[in-house]
Amino acid sequence: MEKYIINPKYALRHGGNKSYIISRQDNAEITTINIIHPIYAMMLSFFKAITKESAFQQISELLHLSASQVESKIGLLIGNDSPIQAGASSFPPQVIVEYKEGMKIDQYKYSDFLYNDVDLTMSRFDAPIDIICNLTLQCATSCVYCYADRKGNQHKRMGIETLDKIIDEAKKIGVIRFKLMGGEVMLYDGWEHIVHKLIDYGYQPDISIKRPMTEEEIIKWKELKATTNPIQISLDTAIKEHLYQILQVSDPYFEKIIETINLLEKHHVKYIVHTVLNRYNDSIDDIASLVDFFKNRKYLKKWMFDAAKCSMYNSLKYRDYKTSLEKLKPIGEYLQSINKQKIFPFELKSPGIPLNHNKLSKQQKYNLFENRTMCTGNLDAIYILPDGKVTICEELYWHPKFIIGDLTKQSIMEVWNSKKARDMFFLNQSSIPDDSPCSNCPDYTECRKYKHICWRDTLLGYGSEKWYYPDLTCPRAPFITKDIYLE
Ligand code: SF4
Ligand code: SF4
Repeated sequence: MEKYIINPKYALRHGGNKSYIISRQDNAEITTINIIHPIYAMMLSFFKAITKESAFQQISELLHLSASQVESKIGLLIGNDSPIQAGASSFPPQVIVEYKEGMKIDQYKYSDFLYNDVDLTMSRFDAPIDIICNLTLQCATSCVYCYADRKGNQHKRMGIETLDKIIDEAKKIGVIRFKLMGGEVMLYDGWEHIVHKLIDYGYQPDISIKRPMTEEEIIKWKELKATTNPIQISLDTAIKEHLYQILQVSDPYFEKIIETINLLEKHHVKYIVHTVLNRYNDSIDDIASLVDFFKNRKYLKKWMFDAAKCSMYNSLKYRDYKTSLEKLKPIGEYLQSINKQKIFPFELKSPGIPLNHNKLSKQQKYNLFENRTMCTGNLDAIYILPDGKVTICEELYWHPKFIIGDLTKQSIMEVWNSKKARDMFFLNQSSIPDDSPCSNCPDYTECRKYKHICWRDTLLGYGSEKWYYPDLTCPRAPFITKDIYLE
């Protein structure tokens, strides 16, 4: 008889007056968070490789409902092909799936989801669910489009003991994703220990590399069982001179990065590729050089394209490295032609073109702003910098306004519940200087309830000292004079 479990792709989480179904996304997938009534979480907790009849029976005993009433509430979630809305609770696809030998079974108990009041609106989580930890800002390359705040920060480093403590606490408080970032993760002395510990705790570190890996490192990566999710490799062109202009490297980098990909294939390690288009590789020849190189590769699982964005910390001006709309158009058409020929078993998506907010009408801005994705920084996520300082989002780095704590001196929960973190999330309108439209905006409360604004984009558009300015898509946002757009 078939047995069922909660889809291992999702985790359940309780937050006092609501529960959540959260995707355990892998590299380059989008996180989903669904809010559900805790009673649903209680019911779901029974699906631990059990027949549906037994689950319905146990739930009906707990809730004093008939088995058919239970079935009508939860049966729809077995193998559901599409999202389901049940009252104020929303469910992603495939919540409950058939159990197959070897699948991970979460050991939830219904008592994990007890509640007094219910409030199914989004609010700040009672502990972070997402942690990104930047181990080091050391790199092996100096990309022209680098967005990292590397200057003067490359030597900053946390000890292994501090990281051990952070990972232990993350596990204890129920953090769902713990990812590693750099710089280059493998330039952190002791990365193997950290990856081993993360895997041991059920996390996938999901690294992204630009530095060539040696065969020993690839073998180590496999031994650590870190290969569930693909490694992300950056490769912008297979024309050596162009690559060297972009990365500011010299021989034997090219041969070594090519060898890395050959070695990943040899050792059957999955990888995805990220190509950043900029003024040195925005030609069909560059992209065709990569298509030639990657076709027929078995372990390439995805290939993503982006146009280089303006960086806040780069010593180069954006105009010195950005591509143009004119160059992106034929590249998009070329990628479509590759898709038609079915050269790769996945679709190549043309790079997204960043919107020029200055050219949008009020109505367009209004629609964009209303439908903006919520800022997860400080809502459910934190970003740990290499010296243990905690900020709310990767690209804010050491901007003092957004530093909410220091993990060399505090625990994760102390940082999360600190006055600095809470004051930043529940930012008082009276603390916004008068020169920002937010200071007297009648929609302030609604805007800052939980969705907030993209602070990173605001800093990019108006400068780091104007952190209190509106979201770039807000209809009240002032004209952006900085060069941050493609033309
Ligand atoms: S971002 Fe726009 S809507 Fe939000 S508070 Fe500022 S001005 Fe108002
Ligand atoms: S500041 Fe912007 S980029 Fe950072 S988490 Fe928020 S929405 Fe995302």
